[in-house]
Amino acid sequence: MPSKDPKNLCVACKGAEPCATIRNRPLCQPCFISFADAKTARRMANYRPQRDAPPAKLLLPLSLGASSSILLNMLDKLRERQLSKNPLGAGFDLYVLVIDPSSISPQLPSVKAHFDAAKEHYPSHTYSIVPLHSIFDVDLDIKNTLGDFGFVDDESKSGADLLDSFRASISTATARADLDNLLLIRLVVAYARKYDCEAVVWGDSDSRLAAKTLANVAKGRGISLTWQIRDGPSPWGMQFCFPLRELYRSELDLYVEQTPKLQSVVVPNTQQAESLSTRDLSIDALMNQYIVTHGEKYPGVMANVVRTADKLEQDNSPTSDPECSMCSAPLQSQGSIAVHGNDTNRLCYACLRSRDDIRVSNA
Ligand SMILES: [Zn+2]
Ligand SMILES: [Zn+2]
Repeated sequence: MPSKDPKNLCVACKGAEPCATIRNRPLCQPCFISFADAKTARRMANYRPQRDAPPAKLLLPLSLGASSSILLNMLDKLRERQLSKNPLGAGFDLYVLVIDPSSISPQLPSVKAHFDAAKEHYPSHTYSIVPLHSIFDVDLDIKNTLGDFGFVDDESKSGADLLDSFRASISTATARADLDNLLLIRLVVAYARKYDCEAVVWGDSDSRLAAKTLANVAKGRGISLTWQIRDGPSPWGMQFCFPLRELYRSELDLYVEQTPKLQSVVVPNTQQAESLSTRDLSIDALMNQYIVTHGEKYPGVMANVVRTADKLEQDNSPTSDPECSMCSAPLQSQGSIAVHGNDTNRLCYACLRSRDDIRVSNA
């Protein structure tokens, strides 16, 4: 048998054929997986086992897309490693929360089989699946917030009907995606509180964080940018952590390909963004599409977008200063921005812009 040419071997272990070239380095399957796992483990340094403290409770919002499923897979492995090495036990416990997509849009397919596969493959964690409208049960301020958007409805309606009519009253794709996103974050934070978690671990990749940064600036949400992309406190008094922030979208796709266990968990991406006309897309969807089509060619530029935004100094701790009733952005620093009358002064500039796209019914 001819000996293998070392030039064609994985640069890390020098013993196997590469499965891909990652950041200009040919890596074999096991070396690629450890490269990606190590990047995530480094971001989880705050959740190592502690001598005098019980494991931190962390909430992982699982969309059953590639990124959050990979995060579950990686944190499951990290926790197993902590348990096997450390007599103190694990540094964290995971509460996995799935928001039922059929409660967001009836057109979205059921995720039941994928949810069951996640529980079966990663059985050491606590799982829940909840509808979007359960926000009325766990976030008691949400009705007042919808009132600030000029939305008043029959109080006797069910949570599901209230939410349906609120979302149906939003006339543009951008405002709908913007408000849906804020409702999802508030729902996740409310459940994190309910389960007594100290932090939320989000599955956003570097590419996704870059798309979020660009979309937020375009939507006038620059001020609230930092907590949406940076490890640390959020305005709701809950820590946010983005352990996949150093991995590119293409690397996450490869990770799923190279991890058979994940293939039954991840819901195939059926969103046919390309088939939609640009006019029907929200700013968020456009930015995602932009990152997918252009960002992959220039991953370094995307990493720079996130690193630059990450350096913005912004104290996100909750304060007693007035804040937006929807997104908790501080209202004070926006004094120069005109508000449309006294009833709107609980909303920030960006939320007011979304409010402009709501058709208030005469009912
Ligand atoms: Zn190798
Ligand atoms: Zn706001």
